[in-house]
Amino acid sequence: MAAAESDREVPSALCTEFLNFSVKDTASKWLQVTDLYKEVYHHLARYVPKIYCLGPNLNPQSEDLLAQMLLQAPLEWYLCGEDPSTGLAKLEQNNQPSQLCGHVFKVGEPTYSCRECAADPTCVLCMQCFLGSVHKEHRYRMTTSGGGGFCDCGDTEAWKKGPYCQKHEPNISDSCQEDPLAHLSTDMIARCYNVFSVVLKYAVDMLTWDKEDELPPGLEPPDRSDTYYCMLFNDEVHTYEQVIYTLQKAVNCTQKEAVSFATTVDRDGRKSVRFGDFAFCELAKSVIVRNTSRQSKPLRVQVMHSSVVAHQCFALKALHWLGHVIGYSDALRRILCQVGLERGPEGENSSLVDTLMLCDSKMWKGARNVYHQLFMSSLLMDLKYKKLFAIQFAKNYRRLQTDFMEDDHERVVSVTSLSVQLFTVPTMARMLITEENLMTTIIRTFVDHLRHRDLQGRFQFERYTAQQAFKFRRVQSLIGDLKYVLISRPTEWSDQLREKFLEGLDTFLELLKCMQGMDPVVRQVGQHIEMEPEWEAAFTLQMKLTHIISMIQEWCATDERVLIEAYKKCLTALTHCHSGFADGEQPITLSMCGHSVDTIRYCVSQEKVSIHLPVSRLLAGLHVLLSKMEVAYRFPEQLPLSELSPPMLIEHPLRCLVLCAQVHAGMWRRNGFSLVNQIYYYHNVKCRVEMFDKDLIMLQAGASMMDPNHFLMIVLSRFELYHIFSSAECRKRYNRENANKDVVQQNNTLTEEMLHLIMMVVGERFESGIGQVEGCDEIKREILHQLCIRPMAHSELVKALPENENKETGMERVIDCVASFKKPGVTGRGLYELRPECAKQFNLYFHHYSRADQSKAEEAQRKLKRQNGEDTALPPPVLPPFCPLFASLVNILQCDVLLGMLGAVLQWAVEPSAGHWSESMLQRVLHLIGMALLEEQQQLENSSEDNDVYFNFTLKMSRPGEAPSNTASVLALLENLQNAPHLEVHEDMIRWLLKTVAGIKTLRERSASTSTVTASGSRGQEETACDKDKAERKRKAEMARLRREKVMAQMSEMQRHFINENKELFQQSLEELDASTSTSLDHRYPASPDAALACVGPRRSRPREKRQVVTCILCQEEQEIRADGKAMVLAAFVQRSTVMSKNRTRPPHDPKRYDPLFMHPDLSFGTHTGSCGHIMHSHCWQRYFEAVQAKEQRRQQRLRVHTSYDVGNGEFLCPLCECLSNTVIPLLPRTMGSSSCEQPGLGQWLKTSGQQIKAMHSAHRKLQPVSTVEETVEEECPAPEVFTVDYIPTNPYSSTIKEMLTTFGSATYKVGLKVHPNEQDPRIPIMCWSSCAYTIQSIERLLVDEKKPLFGSLPCRQDDCLSSLARFGSACWTAACQPTVQGHFIRLLAALIPDPQVEASPCILDVDMLHLLVSVVLSYGSVHSQDSSGLSVDAVQLHLFHLITVAHMVQILLTSGPEEVTMEQESGEAERGEEEGACRLYNTLRTLVGSSLPEVGSGWHLWRCVKTGILPYLRGAALFFHHLHGVPAPPELHALCPGQWEVLCGYLSLPSNLLQLFHGQQELLEPLLHGWCTHPGIQQTLQGGGVLVSFPRESNSLIDLPDDYSALINQASSFTCPKSGGDKSRAPTLCLVCGSMLCSQSYCCQTELEGEDVGACTAHTFACGAGVGIFLRVRESQVLFLAGKTKGCFYAPPYLDDYGETDQGLRRGNPLHLCHERYRKIQKLWRQHSITEEIGHAQEANQTLVGIDWQHL
Ligand SMILES: [Zn+2]
Ligand SMILES: [Zn+2]
Ligand SMILES: [Zn+2]
Ligand SMILES: [Zn+2]
Ligand SMILES: [Zn+2]
Ligand SMILES: [Zn+2]
Ligand SMILES: [Zn+2]
Repeated sequence: MAAAESDREVPSALCTEFLNFSVKDTASKWLQVTDLYKEVYHHLARYVPKIYCLGPNLNPQSEDLLAQMLLQAPLEWYLCGEDPSTGLAKLEQNNQPSQLCGHVFKVGEPTYSCRECAADPTCVLCMQCFLGSVHKEHRYRMTTSGGGGFCDCGDTEAWKKGPYCQKHEPNISDSCQEDPLAHLSTDMIARCYNVFSVVLKYAVDMLTWDKEDELPPGLEPPDRSDTYYCMLFNDEVHTYEQVIYTLQKAVNCTQKEAVSFATTVDRDGRKSVRFGDFAFCELAKSVIVRNTSRQSKPLRVQVMHSSVVAHQCFALKALHWLGHVIGYSDALRRILCQVGLERGPEGENSSLVDTLMLCDSKMWKGARNVYHQLFMSSLLMDLKYKKLFAIQFAKNYRRLQTDFMEDDHERVVSVTSLSVQLFTVPTMARMLITEENLMTTIIRTFVDHLRHRDLQGRFQFERYTAQQAFKFRRVQSLIGDLKYVLISRPTEWSDQLREKFLEGLDTFLELLKCMQGMDPVVRQVGQHIEMEPEWEAAFTLQMKLTHIISMIQEWCATDERVLIEAYKKCLTALTHCHSGFADGEQPITLSMCGHSVDTIRYCVSQEKVSIHLPVSRLLAGLHVLLSKMEVAYRFPEQLPLSELSPPMLIEHPLRCLVLCAQVHAGMWRRNGFSLVNQIYYYHNVKCRVEMFDKDLIMLQAGASMMDPNHFLMIVLSRFELYHIFSSAECRKRYNRENANKDVVQQNNTLTEEMLHLIMMVVGERFESGIGQVEGCDEIKREILHQLCIRPMAHSELVKALPENENKETGMERVIDCVASFKKPGVTGRGLYELRPECAKQFNLYFHHYSRADQSKAEEAQRKLKRQNGEDTALPPPVLPPFCPLFASLVNILQCDVLLGMLGAVLQWAVEPSAGHWSESMLQRVLHLIGMALLEEQQQLENSSEDNDVYFNFTLKMSRPGEAPSNTASVLALLENLQNAPHLEVHEDMIRWLLKTVAGIKTLRERSASTSTVTASGSRGQEETACDKDKAERKRKAEMARLRREKVMAQMSEMQRHFINENKELFQQSLEELDASTSTSLDHRYPASPDAALACVGPRRSRPREKRQVVTCILCQEEQEIRADGKAMVLAAFVQRSTVMSKNRTRPPHDPKRYDPLFMHPDLSFGTHTGSCGHIMHSHCWQRYFEAVQAKEQRRQQRLRVHTSYDVGNGEFLCPLCECLSNTVIPLLPRTMGSSSCEQPGLGQWLKTSGQQIKAMHSAHRKLQPVSTVEETVEEECPAPEVFTVDYIPTNPYSSTIKEMLTTFGSATYKVGLKVHPNEQDPRIPIMCWSSCAYTIQSIERLLVDEKKPLFGSLPCRQDDCLSSLARFGSACWTAACQPTVQGHFIRLLAALIPDPQVEASPCILDVDMLHLLVSVVLSYGSVHSQDSSGLSVDAVQLHLFHLITVAHMVQILLTSGPEEVTMEQESGEAERGEEEGACRLYNTLRTLVGSSLPEVGSGWHLWRCVKTGILPYLRGAALFFHHLHGVPAPPELHALCPGQWEVLCGYLSLPSNLLQLFHGQQELLEPLLHGWCTHPGIQQTLQGGGVLVSFPRESNSLIDLPDDYSALINQASSFTCPKSGGDKSRAPTLCLVCGSMLCSQSYCCQTELEGEDVGACTAHTFACGAGVGIFLRVRESQVLFLAGKTKGCFYAPPYLDDYGETDQGLRRGNPLHLCHERYRKIQKLWRQHSITEEIGHAQEANQTLVGIDWQHL
């Protein structure tokens, strides 16, 4: 093909040029010339198009090499004036490395910020610097970088302390800042200057070049060819899919190529998609444009001449080169900075750096990235030029931002994103404010971009188009810049700074004025609104500005003069706003309780109202500062206090609060959700600081300057409740007129809300400046009230607290004062609990509670009080005193209007029949009275005697109401209510109030005169009598409560018991009924000491016969287990497994050909069977399964949703426990061994079996078709007469059992081999035996890992499962073709006893002995059925067992490995025999095998190898025979006591000196030994030709994880996608089984698996975990379980922060550490094969998990 040819031609064409080229000559020529530009441009014009862009397939390696030789080398030579290798080295010697680290972050790399020392959250460290810094001992935050940005190590302004890591710590000696150029010769400087100018100019020329077919002057190529590129550019409008689809059409490429093009375009910003002559490229362009222009603007495509592209490629290279060269020397770096910032010919802002910045939005992504990087490594690393650059940046700011608005690229690839590097440096920010007026510039630019205004000039976000919304999102980055500029507050103010800041503030107020009153709403009556108005934009703006507003206040708080000026400006702005508001408000006069006030007529429910009042709120904030900084007291003359009109100040905030109340009261239902959402955000933690909180403060400020009666009347009027409260007459009239329940209900709610508002105005004093509190008191109170609801985790508390601009809540400082921490267990998370002593600070009407919070907190606190045996009153807490500026607010509590209102509500409560009151109204009134009483009490207690306390609520409350109506006094009403039966709930509270009143009277009397001591004393006595009475009543109530609780407890206990009993009924396990095996049965079988228990062999113990009866969980009927009875089955789940694999590199078998008869000792693939232990009739199960199937079919047709189980694959959920199952195992009775008569010895048996096998061989041959039978058969072998080959035994099983035998057999076959079911396949029995052996092995491992005894510690379900597996195994031959099973037996046996008629027996190193034992024992049944000689099965089993044990010992010795260098152990006499025997056997092996076996002198070592190596096998064998025969295990094996070895051997009928097995029968076994050792496989394996497994096999563990999670993030950040050459992977995912890192959830790494595209994880599970996988998604900090292609779930990661919480999604960034218990729990799930089950449960619990395309992960 053309492409390939041209590729080959390239080097040869250049060859001559290249050979004739001399770097040195070229450089020397350059040194001579006067016009370097011309010369170098000429050179470039000649060579660049010859190196770059000669064909469609670029070959970067050869290009790079050529560019290095022909282009860069001469430049370097010129620069150094000598061979660059020496010249650059010299430069490097004098280099003063920058103190700044400047490491540029890759996507996904971890970054660290110190929460204690960082100047702001943008200050971050790279991992290296962090680990070498002091901050790793501090409270730090860890995040993953989104790319861009660099390490701030070494920047002294970024860190309050510890700015340097160990590596970047400056030497004290060179701390004096000398000029880096001092070390260079003037010649050198000049050359350097020249070459940098030329190269940078060239790069700028080319990158900003916008002609497609021409080159800048001086660069025109000597010869032009007709070669073009069709260049496709990136945009953020079109999706991947659109681009891929279009490309396939336009340039005829495959989908794979199109994906690759699209990926490159997305990454680099452009990619040539076609190469050829002009017409050819133009055609492709037109197709692309046509195809993409339909919905949106078309994709950007250019047809560019190859020489243009070539120069652009080299221009990028040149920038890289500059970055590389300045790395050698700080002097070079400085020269480059100089060159870059040098003013160009066009005057101001025309330097090369300016040119690049101003063309930023026109460049493609790749080019931008390269030059941004160069800026970062040059300008930003040189402190002097960083400042100069910052100034240029600020000068260009407006243009850059405007360009950015027009551009559609993300901000990270825009030069505007550099602002974070410049503006966050505090000195720089202040310099830019004062010198470049940056604050004003930013705000102006921002305001200019928000053009939509209404008639009053306010922003208007209604009917925002998508385009405008997009722009609005981009313009928000300006607020981010403003935040950077303001983030560090000045410690010193210059006049200039004051001036510029206030100028900025003016601009900011202009912005706020546009927001004041925006998006107003009008109550909808009659019809519901038709369209929900847009509200989010306004709130987004508010939210974004929240921190800015707070920061501006904090700036003001650092300078009195600034504060005073700011206050004035803000007040002017507010006055200005209000002048525009007066929409037809008429004056009216209100009067009540002898007071009257003038106000305007305004109804929130009828006129326009807006929730946006930023100007008022800023003023409120500044007002508090006047108090906090005491400016109000020290310079009152400078403040415009006389201009303040309190009614004007409170008007709009009050309207806003009334709006909220009316929404609560349901009056605004027809205004839809948009209003509900606005109210929600108004109170939400993200906004409330600069919305709700400030409105409340404004009310406080206004009220503190007003007559409280006037204030309350205005409040009543705005709440539209004035007519109800103004006089008793009005009230009565209102009652008569309003029978409408809705209106009554509304007014009740409004009254409640209004009372709450009054409480808040008087009671919220925790902001310093309002009340006399410290800054941390506010946050303490906030936390306390959260914890009064319930104990909370750290993250929940953080979410409930407002964050400042540094993302800090201040919680850590105070949390320990109010809460104690409770650590989490293996699940759940750590919780903070309220300290009990803090409960008394609880305020039920805390202003940040929602109604739901309030009722939860109330319930929790009452419960707590009951538990402590206290009364349940929840009185208000004692409050801190107000600051002087707000002190008059307390008078609200004792003013006439309030008393009138309180009296009114109490009056209604006394006469409840009127119905116009509610309990919560009363509760609030009681609370208010409580607040007033406490206020009085506080003042009395704190006052010195001569100081008269002006606050006298007790006096006022005992006065009756006004003259005409003569209502009772508040006190009288209270006393009246005390025993009202309908107010039982409030009884405790009223009692508390009256007690407090009494207490205050005492106080007053005591302070009034000391002579009244006796009086008060007598009163005291009265009180105690009263107290006594109360105490008595309380005691009685308490007793009644206790009694009630006891009865409740009894009842629930009974209930629990009942459930438990029934559960047991269901779970009654087979073993419990099967009297033979339960642990307790040892008592019933008093084994005489000499007749020890044995589970195998002729002497095996025979458990007494007992009927086995089980209950079907479906029909509840009992059923006896009998061979000829109805089949009972156990729900089971069969799965492939690699959990025990010792070799994960073994490729999966070909399921069609694979012969599973022998398991390799590496156990690479096994079949595991598990069960939940639930038993059913086979027919009940069948009916159930059919029903599930039918239901599933209907459901899929209807909903197309999947379930957590795949019915098509035979899966179902256990009907009782919902455990995932895919088959059932039939339960079978124990096999009854015949009682033993005289049994043959080993020799005799070997002979007999040899004869039998021969007989079977010849019988089987007869069955085969004649053609395949070999002609030269040996003579017919006469079978022993007691062995009838053609005897067909009667099948003992009932038809249903037979059916179930087939069911389980084929399920195991199907799953284990991953094949389609085939009931005839001869491998079915093999798979069943193999699964039995594998399951036993896995359970044996599990018991070792969990340090549990071999017997008695398994849950019944596993015991049941093993028993039924073993018994099934011994019966499954009856369901198969008998000669087939006999054939298996013959081949199995041939692995041990050489049989000339069996070909290709494996070598014993390739056989797992437990699998062999299980298979051979279970298959023997088919042979024995034809033996009538009286040979007992037990005897044969024992011979087989002994034989295999010997083989295993040989296997162990062969693989034992060299002797470890250990101290020769002193062995007791007891084991001498064993050691000697081991030595003898080993030496025999050495003579047979030869030099492949190392010499081992120590018998102790050998015996130890045998003993430890064989133990798992013996334990497995014990489990196997135990479950097969049901012989109870000796009690020693039920515990972990010493001496297990002997007991185990005894139980297995083995000598405890195992070597006797060999030496006792040496002459019989030696020939076998000879056969094993001369197998060719032995030599091959021992010499490293195969997988050599040594024994014991260690249990597999999940990989080791680092303690610190950031190590993982770091590892993942350097991981690149293996398929797309060096790209960062988006979702790096770690396999916890083998440690592979994968590129998950991405197009690039999808592969085809069984005809479907699957993601990297799914593909990996099939190789690594036989379909099951456990992964850690590193970026998400999340564990992923996968099973097959359709199942998966997420699982909590084993990493916790210090607060005992996981951080899924890494959102909080607290340091995470490995929790070993949790990791062990995951490992245990894996080891016990429960991953799939876990997924099933997770999916059942959370249906959304079912819908996820797990296979794409
Ligand atoms: Zn660093
Ligand atoms: Zn550092
Ligand atoms: Zn620190
Ligand atoms: Zn049943
Ligand atoms: Zn179950
Ligand atoms: Zn793996
Ligand atoms: Zn990939």
